[in-house]
Amino acid sequence: MEIRRGERFTKLVVLEPDVGRDKRYCRLSRCLCDCGNVVIVAVSDLMRGHTKSCGCLKKEKARDNWKKMGALNGENNPRWKGGRRIHEKGYIRIYRPEHPHADCVGYVFEHRLIMEKKLGRLLRPKEVVHHIDGDKANNAEENLDLFADQGKHANYHKRLEQIAEET
Ligand SMILES: [Zn+2]
Ligand SMILES: [Zn+2]
Repeated sequence: MEIRRGERFTKLVVLEPDVGRDKRYCRLSRCLCDCGNVVIVAVSDLMRGHTKSCGCLKKEKARDNWKKMGALNGENNPRWKGGRRIHEKGYIRIYRPEHPHADCVGYVFEHRLIMEKKLGRLLRPKEVVHHIDGDKANNAEENLDLFADQGKHANYHKRLEQIAEET
């Protein structure tokens, strides 16, 4: 299985055909993705078409699929709900693919968006938004509080529990 420098595999162009071996003893090559990322990938994955980009292609596809689903089905689709989805842990997520902290399918937690609006700035990834009444789906501005990080947030919950036990 030989590949040459400059050979193209979908979005990846081979920079160096042989830069070592991985744990499975597969040959690795260094490639440049059309988006500008440089990645190390297994040559066998390239040859079989398993790896087609640095990962950006999958993200683009996921976003495209969501857009298509929205256009085709609108609000009739139970998964679409006007771009609102309930997260598995009970949080509400909003479709905002243009948001700098959107996940790979373009979603952002609604409580974070509302806190950002309230503060007039983006939240830092470490900052945690707390739901004062404990209802993760109650994203009214006055129900949200901000903690600098998860440690401070967890401490606050511990104290809340202690107070509940004392009274
Ligand atoms: Zn890429
Ligand atoms: Zn909390």
